[in-house]
Amino acid sequence: MTSTAALATGVSARDNKLRQPYRRNSSSSVDSDSSSETPISYATDPDRPPGQPTPRTTKQKVDRRPPSTFYLKRWRDQTWAERICNLATCPASMHELKDEGMDRGMPPVQPIWRENLFILSRALIPILLHQGALWAFPNYQWPFYVIYPFYFLAFVGFAIEMVHRMSDYSIKFGTFDEKQIGRDRTPDKSVNHLAVGILAYMFVRTAFCFYLQFDKQAQPLFSFTWSYPLRLAAWEIALDYFFYVYHRASHEVDSLWFIHQHHHTTKHPTAILSILAEEWQELLEVFLVPLAATLLVPMTFSEGYMTLVYTIYVEMMGHSGVRAHWCHPVLWPLEYLGMGLAVEDHDLHHRFGKSGKNYGKQSRVWDRIFGTCAERIETFGM
Ligand SMILES: [Zn+2]
Repeated sequence: MTSTAALATGVSARDNKLRQPYRRNSSSSVDSDSSSETPISYATDPDRPPGQPTPRTTKQKVDRRPPSTFYLKRWRDQTWAERICNLATCPASMHELKDEGMDRGMPPVQPIWRENLFILSRALIPILLHQGALWAFPNYQWPFYVIYPFYFLAFVGFAIEMVHRMSDYSIKFGTFDEKQIGRDRTPDKSVNHLAVGILAYMFVRTAFCFYLQFDKQAQPLFSFTWSYPLRLAAWEIALDYFFYVYHRASHEVDSLWFIHQHHHTTKHPTAILSILAEEWQELLEVFLVPLAATLLVPMTFSEGYMTLVYTIYVEMMGHSGVRAHWCHPVLWPLEYLGMGLAVEDHDLHHRFGKSGKNYGKQSRVWDRIFGTCAERIETFGM
């Protein structure tokens, strides 16, 4: 079997070598048959018992996706960027092609209350710690640089937990289009860029909250008002409007496609690839679009942080590919107007590539109003 075929099917006889320390191939080594080199397959799994065949990853004869091998290296051989990306490495089965005869039944519907419980229980952790510190030292005004790391680490922890949660659900429920192709891996060539993007996203989104909304005098646990759920919903819809405008423009105006093109190098993303983007897109999505929404819909510091957690939840869910009908935890009433978002909507958007449709990332409000909704396939009618 040639190594070209190995890209699509894997080579079982060589799986033993994956137990060995990974050796990076030269640029042309993918097509080499040298016994010292590891065959690259999107379904290559270093934990697969020796002798078991490596599953196929795509229905096409050859898997032409860019190589992804960094996750096979030993921890101590990995760069800092590879270690960051490796935090989101998914189980190998998510990258495997599924059998045509497999019948998983209808995609399940995830209860809204359970998702809200999951989000609230995590988002409240730094708020409770912050409030505890104020109770413990009532006469001390904690400066932002002492408080900030707790919020930053809690936000990063939430994102990591989401990656693992989405992976677990992907194994349990399957992924969209899995009988055609498995999910994409992070390409080696994108690792450095993605790692910087992840750090920038985590840092800027939380710093944004501190810069605009932090109040040393406020009691964070008691900074939520009765109108917060309504303002949260309004903020998400406003965010989605500004996102829709730039997103659709970058698809439809050829000279703007460079802003968004890198993000569309993945057609079957996983949660981590939601952050894969060029710097212009990062500037827009991480800073300018949320800023515009925040100027329209004001929030307190605690409300702003919780809103960030809700937002990243939906962004990661939309890129997870989990074969389930998962309503937006806040905007779920839009379902009754035919404007509610489903996981499949953004998944289809990635498959369409530049040709577009389904431009919203928090709802279908603007897609419905401006006529850019695409018909769902696996969650049709749900
Ligand atoms: Zn797009």
